[in-house]
This record gives sequence, C-alpha cells and structure tokens, in this order.
Amino acid sequence: MNYIEMKSEIDRLKKEKNAIIIAHYYMRPEVQDVADYIGDSLGLARTAAKTDKQMIVFCGVDFMAETAKILMPDRDVLIPYSRAGCFLADMIIPEELNEYKEEHPNVPVVSYINTTAEIKALSDIICTSSNAVNVVKSLHTKEVIFGPDKNLAQFVADQLPEIKFHIWEGYCQVHERITVQSILEIKKRHPDAAVVVHPECTPQVIRIADFVGSTTKIINYVKDSDKKLFVIGTEIGIAHQIRKKTSGKRIIFPKATPLCYNMKTITLPRVLSALKKDQFKVSVDKKTAEKAKIVIERMLAVS
Ligand code: SF4
Repeated sequence: MNYIEMKSEIDRLKKEKNAIIIAHYYMRPEVQDVADYIGDSLGLARTAAKTDKQMIVFCGVDFMAETAKILMPDRDVLIPYSRAGCFLADMIIPEELNEYKEEHPNVPVVSYINTTAEIKALSDIICTSSNAVNVVKSLHTKEVIFGPDKNLAQFVADQLPEIKFHIWEGYCQVHERITVQSILEIKKRHPDAAVVVHPECTPQVIRIADFVGSTTKIINYVKDSDKKLFVIGTEIGIAHQIRKKTSGKRIIFPKATPLCYNMKTITLPRVLSALKKDQFKVSVDKKTAEKAKIVIERMLAVS
C-alpha cells in the first residue's frame, strides 16, 4: 500500500470507528499529517480530555497514551506501537519515589508529565514544560520535590529562587545530547541565528539560548520572530510543523541530531494497523488511574 492509499484507508477507518488521531510534535512527518490534532504534552492532554470521539489513537509514547486513558477511562485509547516508551519516564520508579518522600516528609511532589501512571499517582501535582513554573507557584510552598527531569527542574528553580528544590537526577537522553559546543559551532558560521531550546536541555545550553520554551512555544517563537535563522534545541520532529507554519525561515539542528527513537517507532503502517485491529489498547489499573486523574486535573486547573 502506498502513502496515499494508507492515508485514505486511515481516514475511512477513522470515520467508521468514530476515532480521533492525536500526535506529538516529535512524530514522523507522515504521522503528523494524518493527525486531527498535533501538539505538546499539555495540548495533547487537553485535547484527550475534551474529545467526544469513542476511540483515541495516540501517536506518542506510552506515558502520553496512559494520560489520555486516565482522563477518559470510558474510551478506547490505542497506541500504535505497544513498546513506545520514554527513557526519561523510566528514570524513576515508585519504590524510589516513596523512599525519597520519606526522606523529605511533608514536601509536595511535582512530577513532570513524562512519568508513568504510578509515579503520577504518588505525586501531588504534575506539570508540563509549558506550565511548570505556574504549577510550582500554585502550591504556595517553601520546598518542593521535582522530578524526574533535572534540567527542567533547574530551569524552574532558577525562576523561583525563594523555593528550595529537591531535584531528581533524571534526564532525557535526546536533549542531554545537545551540547554548547555543537550550538557554538553553528553560531560561528551564522552569528545572527537565534538559539531556541527546550527546557529539557542542560543548564549550560539554556544559558546561551535566546529563548527557552515548550515545543508549542518554540514553534510560536520562530513564527513571530523577525529573525530568519534559528538553531533549534529539541527533537527533530518539530521541524515539520515549523516548516509548515513559517515561511522564509531557516532552521538548523545541532550535530548528533536530536532524535527520539521511541517516538519514531510510531509509523504510518502501525497507525493503520491500530485502527484496523483496534490495537494496542492502553489500560491503567483502576486505583492508580483514580489517584493519577486527580493529580492530572489539578494541573489542568492551574493551566
Ligand atoms: S524525547 Fe526524551 S522525554 Fe521525549 S519521549 Fe523521547 S526520551 Fe522521552
């Protein structure tokens, strides 16, 4: 089946099954092009929470699909590849978090949305990269446990010096690979380029950036800026929407291209199979889901 045939079969099945396809910006371009909604973690969670469709085909990694299932337990949430995991989400497990909480009694836990349902259920609130500062502020606390991304934690901590942060030592290997040197090499050749990075990048990279923001904010920044050339410090999948939404702008990615293999496991044939065979259904243990839902809804209320 060629691309056009696959796309038309996906469209047909979508109608037949009353399904919506939602996709993260890090998806392959051809997957983004069959999606009804493309966005960052916050946008995806919001979209999942308000859709009237019976089936949600979630083109992203497992914690994202789990979040959709938690918010919409009566819907069929499908992930096209059952092993699309997240390196960062795997850097914290419930036993470790429980131990850490015991070491820091009465300190609220803010978890990044890039966590399993179990970790969300053990947290007080979750956040995304676009609302993390407001989420922490909303707690009116003097201390906070923030995890699992140490870089995002540091980025938020720097903006809220009055709060003591207990930072989990996790990171995303895709953003960690973006180095100051690789950015400066590009700047040497293109001194006018604006450096635009995601807060999962290291503090050293963030320090030399002109703008730091979530994927949605990065796209909007490039769109609205007077600059013509941008060094992009996040996963390469974002290039597709930047190119579609901006014209006359050029983007360059640092060497050792930031590419998330887990995100790229979602292919168009797998999206088609998901719709054809109703696979792979996402399920979350009921008790865990109930606790995690409260925590996710707290974040949505802050946003
Ligand atoms: S880019 Fe990083 S945080 Fe995002 S899914 Fe891939 S490994 Fe996880």
